[in-house]
Amino acid sequence: MQQIKNFINGELVTPQNGQYLDLYDPSTGTVYAQVPDSDLKDVNIAMESAIKAFPNWAATSTTERSALMTKIADLIDKNLDRLAEAESLDNGKPIWLAKKVDIPRASSNMRFFAQAITQFSTQAHEMSGAINYTLREPLGVVATISPWNLPLYLFTWKIAPALAAGNCVIAKPSEVTPMTAFLLSELCIEAGLPKGVFNVLHGDGIKVGAELTKHPKIKAISFTGSTRVGKEIAKVAAPAFKKISLEMGGKNPNIIFADCNYDKMLSTTMRSSFANQGQICLCGSRIFVERPIYDRFKKDFTEKTKALKVGHPSDPTSKLGAIVSKPHYDKILSHLEIAKEEGGHILTGGIPLHPEGYEEGWYIAPTIIEGLSHDCRTNQEEIFGPVVTIMPFDTEEEVLLYANSTEYGLSATLWTENLSRANRLSKQIHAGIVWINTWLLRDLRTPFGGVKSSGVGREGGNEALRFFTEAKNVCIQY
Ligand code: NAD
Repeated sequence: MQQIKNFINGELVTPQNGQYLDLYDPSTGTVYAQVPDSDLKDVNIAMESAIKAFPNWAATSTTERSALMTKIADLIDKNLDRLAEAESLDNGKPIWLAKKVDIPRASSNMRFFAQAITQFSTQAHEMSGAINYTLREPLGVVATISPWNLPLYLFTWKIAPALAAGNCVIAKPSEVTPMTAFLLSELCIEAGLPKGVFNVLHGDGIKVGAELTKHPKIKAISFTGSTRVGKEIAKVAAPAFKKISLEMGGKNPNIIFADCNYDKMLSTTMRSSFANQGQICLCGSRIFVERPIYDRFKKDFTEKTKALKVGHPSDPTSKLGAIVSKPHYDKILSHLEIAKEEGGHILTGGIPLHPEGYEEGWYIAPTIIEGLSHDCRTNQEEIFGPVVTIMPFDTEEEVLLYANSTEYGLSATLWTENLSRANRLSKQIHAGIVWINTWLLRDLRTPFGGVKSSGVGREGGNEALRFFTEAKNVCIQY
């Protein structure tokens, strides 16, 4: 059985303790590989190599760093098929989706920051008889910790700005989906990235993840994952004064007004509800529909959802694949029970599926629930699966209250042709990202992140480069 390796000091190595965790293929529910169960010993070795590599890496020109990162992006493109198949096997997402979205975006992340660093500038502030200029210096060794839902996509979204800014990185991918981070390590060797600049440690969050975040030499932690773990990281980082960027959970509203472009709204809402089995932090899991079109929407949306094919990830006709893990599958099913107990009426789905030949895999039918109030558990807690609720509303004030009623504030989607209303509501919605008449349209230069329990700090473009650098002001009197 294949054993994944850590990537330390430019080499693929086994964990010091020789321990491994099982890695599952969600489409069949069987173990297919093993991932290192690393611990503090591995953190210390990676740290030593990163500290050693830092002065030279920080001293490279932005052009040199940019060229190396572009090389890695080229290698990702060259290995598109292999990476997409690995991502799908690890995560359960359809191969076509990994090929169309996950892997191309991983390459774009590397390419984008390879270019962005060559354009990154600082400020000067003139006084009478003196001038200040600001230097932005890399921090040193930083940690990046990423989740399982968009494995290589979010892994590279963090390491790219960190490396471009001149930091050395110790990255921890999710232990549930580590395969593409491992394959990327191989590509970094091929690209000729200097030893120790980029290290990948695999393993359990509570074990190696916690050791990494606690390590006194880690200057900053960029985390994407659940709000629960984000809180743990904040507790560790605050007394040590480490910089933190936390991208966490969501319970995003999708607000549909009667004057919207109906066909565009309906097809986009299918994606924003169920893409990647609903396991995207930006999915709109609470759908609020203005009453005049509620019945029409309910009928069309239910019909289209019933027609979605759930099947093996390698089948190009599968619109949804498998749920990432058995614990997550059980969590989603338990939420469906809660929804029923709360009086929710399941319009379609609500059950596990057993596609022929893959009966032991973890599949759940895309689910629409109606009849629930905005403040029940189903509408307050993140489910992170192919499950949405639909609710009618009558006024802007009412829907705004519903939309803002959760502890989360990541993104929101608005459907209306009324420009004034769109602008008015965008200002009042508690979210870091608002999409109007679209969803998941991304420009990598824009600030990305959430408010309330969804996030601290922003990623993307210059925000990320600022996070991974420290400002130093120099004042000269003449
Ligand atoms: P998770 O919080 O369980 O794990 C995320 C990462 O943190 C994993 O690599 C894990 O091993 C590690 N980890 C766990 N405990 C740790 C600890 N004590 N110290 C350090 N690291 C630790 O999240 P998940 O289940 O992998 O991912 C799903 C969650 O991620 C959802 O809540 C989803 O909304 C969120 N998410 C947010 C965004 C965003 O941009 N806001 C994007 C994708 C996913």
